[in-house]
Amino acid sequence: AAKTSGGNRMKVFNDRMRVAVQDRIAAEKLLREALDGDRRQTLPVWFQPIVSARTGEILGAETLVRMRTGDGRILGPGLFVPAAEETGLIVPLGEHVLIEALRHLVAWRDELRYISVNVSPRQLAEPDFVPLLAGLLAAAPELEPGRLVLEITETALLASTVDITERLETIKSLGVRIALDDFGTGYSSLTWLQSVPADIVKLDRSFVAGLATDAKKSSIIRAVLWLAQSMGMSAVAEGVEEASDVQALREVGCPLLQGYFFGKPMPPEQFAAGLQRSRMATTP
Ligand code: C2E
Ligand code: MG
Ligand code: MG
Ligand code: MG
Repeated sequence: AAKTSGGNRMKVFNDRMRVAVQDRIAAEKLLREALDGDRRQTLPVWFQPIVSARTGEILGAETLVRMRTGDGRILGPGLFVPAAEETGLIVPLGEHVLIEALRHLVAWRDELRYISVNVSPRQLAEPDFVPLLAGLLAAAPELEPGRLVLEITETALLASTVDITERLETIKSLGVRIALDDFGTGYSSLTWLQSVPADIVKLDRSFVAGLATDAKKSSIIRAVLWLAQSMGMSAVAEGVEEASDVQALREVGCPLLQGYFFGKPMPPEQFAAGLQRSRMATTP
């Protein structure tokens, strides 16, 4: 009986794997088509506000890519970024996202302080990445480079074959800032903090949601904020959904907040409208 059930388990596993592979191949095909199309249409970038905990003013925006399919559906990055990383298509995809992010920051330069862009391990390892970045910044001399923030996750360090720390030092020498994304979820967060020249810590939403009523989360957040501050880094709390989270994060002194409470990722036109309202609400 054990053997039979083992065999069945194996079969289920294989079927699931086949579905996953088919999805991956479908995702790759969709992505190739999107990259071949008018990228602003097929791969729109959306923006989510990052606000001052003190005033509620929008100070920054995280760039989050989407895919618009032929039949008009909008797909989230979870459905195609993994395939992009596996196939190397993340390189042209990432270039497109960077170009779009900087184009919007130029347009909003008087209203928005900074824009952040997610960068995957594969992109960072690419020898052409730093020249690309330098070229794009040179083409936008009106922007101080520190207004661009690159968000890196811990897997970038683990997965990498090149010396990521050295690569990040080079990027920082351009003046671009580095944020540690999903901070606290990997198993080497403290090593990371020690070795990576980061400017901003992004507290993962798993520590943030429900913080007001969870003493452990609150302790972790206070400790990380203290660490960040004593290392001269800023901090953003991700996944802020409830007014009670906002209150608790203000009390522990987290400077920047991001989450559905303030706004979901949205198309640029809608973000720009929100930016105007934010300015009117907070400018005397
Ligand atoms: P991330 O960088 O950690 O981005 C935050 C994700 O959390 C976004 O999901 C955002 O919509 C979601 N989020 C924000 N606020 C809340 C909240 O209050 N509650 C909850 N439950 N979720 C919230 P999204 O847009 O689906 O992106 C998922 C991930 O895909 C990102 O995680 C990032 O790792 C990756 N990604 C997105 N755009 C790009 C890109 O252009 N390049 C690369 N390499 N990765 C990207
Ligand atoms: Mg991010
Ligand atoms: Mg994150
Ligand atoms: Mg995340």
